[in-house]
Amino acid sequence: MRVVVVGAGIAGLSAAHSLLGRARIAGCTVEVTVVEGAARPGGHVRSLRDGGFVVEAGPNGFRDGEPATLALIDDLKLTPALACVSAGVQRRFLLAGGRLRRVPDSPAALLTSDVLSRGGKLRLLLEPWARRAPAGTTEESVDDFARRRLGREAAETLVDAAVSGLTAGDSRTLSMAAAFPRVAEMERRHGSLVRAMIARRAGRPRRLLSLAGGMGTLVEVLAARLGAALRVGSPVTRIGRRGGQWEVGLASGEEVVADRVVLAVPARAAGPLVESLDPALAQGLAEIPAAGVAAVALAYEASDLLRPLDGYGYVVRRGERLSTLGVVWESALFPGRAPEGFVLLRAILGGARDPEAVRLPETELVERAHREVARAMGIVAAARRAWVFRWPGAIAQYTRGHLERVARVRAAAAGHPGLELCGTSFDGISFNAAVASGADVARRVIP
Ligand SMILES: Cc1cc2nc3c(=O)[nH]c(=O)nc-3n(C[C@H](O)[C@H](O)[C@H](O)COP(=O)(O)OP(=O)(O)OC[C@H]3O[C@@H](n4cnc5c(N)ncnc54)[C@H](O)[C@@H]3O)c2cc1C
Repeated sequence: MRVVVVGAGIAGLSAAHSLLGRARIAGCTVEVTVVEGAARPGGHVRSLRDGGFVVEAGPNGFRDGEPATLALIDDLKLTPALACVSAGVQRRFLLAGGRLRRVPDSPAALLTSDVLSRGGKLRLLLEPWARRAPAGTTEESVDDFARRRLGREAAETLVDAAVSGLTAGDSRTLSMAAAFPRVAEMERRHGSLVRAMIARRAGRPRRLLSLAGGMGTLVEVLAARLGAALRVGSPVTRIGRRGGQWEVGLASGEEVVADRVVLAVPARAAGPLVESLDPALAQGLAEIPAAGVAAVALAYEASDLLRPLDGYGYVVRRGERLSTLGVVWESALFPGRAPEGFVLLRAILGGARDPEAVRLPETELVERAHREVARAMGIVAAARRAWVFRWPGAIAQYTRGHLERVARVRAAAAGHPGLELCGTSFDGISFNAAVASGADVARRVIP
């Protein structure tokens, strides 16, 4: 069987690796080719090692507990390279009213916290008695869900900022069931988020993990394993059928023939590839929106910081009118991310709040990120180093109607046996979801 995987982001690499592993176990011969448009594999996953800094271009970690990710890491013999988030960085902050305020992580902390008014706190504490969504509600927005369960103030202040930080999206347009299915499930199963969290406390807390040398280590090892099966700098322009076989057309004019094609590219990139094959499928894929973000990493001398990096970082309340959605205190999370005497911070700008930010010139992005970070954190010195990664249309937005849109896309794709879709446009936007989607494809191709 010849399989062509289009896109060498982590979803495509996971699919290719799982396919080869399953073929070995099943004792069948599978020829896998991964074709990637960019000059390097990994998509968003890339770690720049520069002057003693380890700078993440995209994801800086993943939640422990996803079997597909842990199996991949184990398979690649990278388990000893796993890095667990440093103790004490569970604390998260919210930038509101120009000040960093600690986000309460327990009812006791809520009582002394200044993130909400007294009325807002009281309403939050009434969560276990909040009403359920009226019968017949379909794909409630995250904001409606949060208002109903946690109250207006918590929804507008805490939830909206956290959602922006996690998804680069807008809580008022995102679908609760599609974007946060686990939280929606907590309400369904326990009738209350607080009750669900108490029930969950019994389990092992899910830590944030990364790898020595950064997340890029995983891509580098996967790429090395694939060897000549991975072709970079080869954008695919179309896929089509001829005589029971798939043809994958490259920008160079070359056609690669396959029995199966795995589209591991974002939906907006997959749409044009299938336009001539199935215009309805192409249209469905084009209807899944995505938000662009810029990641701006800033290095400061540790002595230039007036406050300790005593947490994960902060997210920004909408009303602050900043381009920054959130800032991760990278060098506080994992060891070895900055040389002695320096700290590394990474601001994420843009998203649905400021869609133009991702297109700004690099110098302006650095200037804006530094200005906003320095004001929030009381830094008076200039950044010593800066790195910019622009990701237009990077994060799929599971807006209301997403579940129905995905069902339509899947139904259309099912009309083309041998065509598979994976990646983060459909069932989860996280790194873990991307890895799992690639492994799922391999299970479908080699059951
Ligand atoms: C700044 C940022 C920070 C993030 N932080 C986190 C985090 O901390 N934790 C977390 O869990 N997730 C995070 N994410 C999300 C995470 O990065 C993604 O879920 C994951 O990397 C997506 O992988 P993918 O393979 O689905 O897509 P992509 O990484 O987009 O890969 C798709 C690949 O397809 C290629 N391609 C596109 N079109 C074509 C074509 N026509 N021909 C050939 N190749 C093509 C692209 O060049 C790309 O390499 C972050 C994302 C960003 C942008």
